[in-house]
Amino acid sequence: MTIFPTVTSIAPQVLLANHLKALKLPTFSREYEKVAMESAQDRADYPRYLLRLCELERIDRDRRNVERRIRLARFPQTKSLDTFDFAAQPSLNKALVLELARCEWIEKRHNYIALGPSGTGKTHGALALGLAACQKGYSVAFTTAAALVHELMEARDERRLRALQKHFNTVKLLIVDELGYVPFTAVGSELLFEVFSQRYERGATLVTSNLPFDEWTSVFGSERLTGALLDRLTHHVHILEMNGESFRLATSKKAQRWPSQDLNASPKTPTEGGANAKL
Ligand code: ADP
Ligand code: MG
Repeated sequence: MTIFPTVTSIAPQVLLANHLKALKLPTFSREYEKVAMESAQDRADYPRYLLRLCELERIDRDRRNVERRIRLARFPQTKSLDTFDFAAQPSLNKALVLELARCEWIEKRHNYIALGPSGTGKTHGALALGLAACQKGYSVAFTTAAALVHELMEARDERRLRALQKHFNTVKLLIVDELGYVPFTAVGSELLFEVFSQRYERGATLVTSNLPFDEWTSVFGSERLTGALLDRLTHHVHILEMNGESFRLATSKKAQRWPSQDLNASPKTPTEGGANAKL
């Protein structure tokens, strides 16, 4: 294979573009002429010129990597801690959440469990911590417990369970949202147990649930399996209890001026975005 064509008539810009493409340096390729002009104006020497290009390439590459990790994480929405109103959730340990956003627990392969009723910001918090992890360079997979079990069962039927398990084992942070809304079959429970068990002390796992631990047996069906799972999951764990009022309910109360403030306001059924909306 000829890497350097002998045809001298090819413009150096064309050859350069070709080499930079092969070397995967798109920012170099896009910026080198502009940076050359700026460097000439500033009387910057060649090392400085190259340094500027390298810096631009690295900044751009970091940004592309973060975007790729976010895409691969399959977040259903983008949420960050910037939009999380801590005042609305006074029972939540703000200092702990901010510490978790620094992601050291992911490096230590610890777990994090958010417990609380519907609408209290568990998913928002999980998405925000997932985003922070992507920004800090960790691979993330976001799923709900029901979707994960469904995916595992499907993979098992199609004889590709190993590959899927490997994916969930190797990701640095696995987020399993909404454990507790849907009970699993015995096979589903075992498959989910295997995921948690294989990740034990190998990767960080974040679980959100509307159920306190003593009710998890109702989801997994088996007391023995639930005990073994909680044993692993809660060995190195940060637990966040979100016991405040539903944020959805509170905001819709404000927006609709709840009947207690305005007796003429039209009543709102509990299913219109209130605490039960997701059930
Ligand atoms: P949960 O997962 O506990 O049911 P969500 O995280 O889905 O609750 O929150 C429901 C909605 O309310 C989302 O749109 C979320 O962004 C918002 N929300 C919840 N808590 C807060 C909060 N403390 N600050 C800002 N938005 C919040
Ligand atoms: Mg949720």
